Amino acid sequence: MSEILYSEAQLKKVVAELAAAIAADFMGQPVLLLGLLKGCQPFLADLCRQLSYHQVDLAVDYLQVSSYVGSASSGKVKIKQLSADEAFCRRRNVIIVDDIFDTGLTLQKVMAWLQAKGAAQVKSCVLLSKSGCNQTAIVPDYCGVEIPAAFVVGYGLDYNEKYRELPYIKVLPENEQ
Ligand code: 5GP
Repeated sequence: MSEILYSEAQLKKVVAELAAAIAADFMGQPVLLLGLLKGCQPFLADLCRQLSYHQVDLAVDYLQVSSYVGSASSGKVKIKQLSADEAFCRRRNVIIVDDIFDTGLTLQKVMAWLQAKGAAQVKSCVLLSKSGCNQTAIVPDYCGVEIPAAFVVGYGLDYNEKYRELPYIKVLPENEQ
């Protein structure tokens, strides 16, 4: 039996709280939300909608980033820019939006990449953070909830491209991995 960690209603509340925190910090300043595909999709869409209620001046772009194979991190983070504009993040306030913070290696690599490309300010926003797994000195600026160190799926998070469509987040039992 799979354990539901966060229901659709709980996720909605968490995302609304994250949007309120971002809006309080960025009122009157343009922000580029940079989603890490593919897992960010439902989270980013809901976050944008919530930010629009606060009238934050938003632009949205994406990077394609991968490190996981099945339920294990390869430790090698690959970044692919999707914007055709080479200078898309130069002198901008960028908030990286990712589904889950685990070892921190993805955020570490993407932050360094954005700084090298000339972003004015780089912040990070994650929906979930796994307790006790951080291998870096990075702490996400905006974090929805801490979860136990289990493999989770749903609300954009996949296992071999399955389960992304679930409106909730559940633990994937080891016998299904
Ligand atoms: P990190 O680089 O922080 O170890 O991992 C970040 C990325 O690993 C996430 O964006 C996500 O793609 C993947 N990931 C880490 N933990 C999980 C998990 O529990 N479930 C799923 N589906 N992906 C995870």
